[in-house]
Amino acid sequence: MRDMLDDTIAALATAPGRAGIALIRVSGPDARPIGRALGLPALEPRRATYARVHHPEDGRPLDRVVATLFVSPASYTGEDVIEIGCHGGALVPALVLDACLAAGARPAERGEFARRAFLNGRIDLVQVEATLDLVDARSEEAHRAALFQLEGGLSERLERVRERLVRAQAMLGYEIDFPEEDEGPIEPGRVEEAARELEEELGALLRHAPEGELLREGVLTVIAGRPNVGKSSLFNALLGTSRAIVTELPGTTRDAIEAMASVDGYPFRLVDTAGLRETAERVEGLGIEVARRYLEGADLVLFCLEVGRRPDAGERAFLEELREDADGEGRLIVVGTKADAAREPGPARGLADVEVSAETGEGLDRLREELRSRAFSGLSRQGGTPLLTRRRQVRAVRRAREEVRAFAGARREGLPPEVAATHLQEAQLALEDLLGVVETDEILDVLFAEFCVGK
Ligand code: GDP
Repeated sequence: MRDMLDDTIAALATAPGRAGIALIRVSGPDARPIGRALGLPALEPRRATYARVHHPEDGRPLDRVVATLFVSPASYTGEDVIEIGCHGGALVPALVLDACLAAGARPAERGEFARRAFLNGRIDLVQVEATLDLVDARSEEAHRAALFQLEGGLSERLERVRERLVRAQAMLGYEIDFPEEDEGPIEPGRVEEAARELEEELGALLRHAPEGELLREGVLTVIAGRPNVGKSSLFNALLGTSRAIVTELPGTTRDAIEAMASVDGYPFRLVDTAGLRETAERVEGLGIEVARRYLEGADLVLFCLEVGRRPDAGERAFLEELREDADGEGRLIVVGTKADAAREPGPARGLADVEVSAETGEGLDRLREELRSRAFSGLSRQGGTPLLTRRRQVRAVRRAREEVRAFAGARREGLPPEVAATHLQEAQLALEDLLGVVETDEILDVLFAEFCVGK
């Protein structure tokens, strides 16, 4: 996508469909003339104005709207922006948008408003990503992390590290320029100390990184077990809605069903699989394939066993299989189901990590607690906000830390300051890539493609 900032773009910023209002955004140098062509009066900046709009071609009235003007550079995109709040529904927003286009605007591409905001220096790349994450957030904790980044919390910390990298390079510069001086203005060891602090700060940024990513994506949690052990009932109980159809016939769950559940504010992608029973039956077989496919990528596996029934050979084999797998053990939670139906100590008692009843709700809180502590132990224990939530961020900060370590190594080996300095430059570059200080079209195209039109 080419950046053409001299034209004016327009798009529907709210989801299409039946709704009280819809918001149409117009951004670019012609925003005000376009507003006038629609019949809007002269708009006072940042003041909501109730007015009637008409089609610029034939003057037919379209709607009564509330229009707000934001004058460049004090707007979301940094350009002149008019936001038109019109009535929602199938027709009205389309008509008003069409009127904007007829008046000279061009339909915005995906993410083009955010892209302009970025190109005009209103937000950095981390904030662009946070905008997406905020819109996509489905749990309180993911929401908190996204808002923190959107408000510049992460950017500020990255920026401070970047400044310290620049300062460390300046100190080295002195050594390079005045190699003969023993007692320069920089105390010996100052650069090394700076590098140690930098490494520490980068480490602090990385601390909850894997959990941060899970927070954004949701913990893939597969509910597995024989047909009829109560998987769908558990799935529904955890979701708090009746999404999967619960039946008494074994093996009637047709395929895996996935839903996002917020467990104590943390996001889990719950997958209800058909039973793991080996069978030639086609529908059932399909479910098994789905289960196996999901199991491979699963972050957690809830393996369900009825409390009152002895596990059969197949179930024992499956448990063994998971336990032998190096990271299977940590992923596995054995859930004893239908605890209400097995008042007497049942044969499966002792095998289960948690016993639950989807019927009475007993044990569900403990299971939720178990889910949260398995996936988010670091975060939930320390109650912190995860700083990094995207792979791109983690990769960049790791790269910066590696370079800072390499720098310390180069100093220890007594390499020339010019050589050691290249590592600090690389570290700086990694952070600048992350913030988008040096933007490349490629990164931008990939990133903005995630947006829908109107953002
Ligand atoms: P799935 O095939 O593993 O998904 O099992 P379902 O969730 O469809 O449940 C199978 C049967 O067990 C249904 O008749 C449910 O009503 C019953 N069931 C599920 N959970 C419980 C429970 O906690 N207590 C009792 N008593 N029955 C349950």
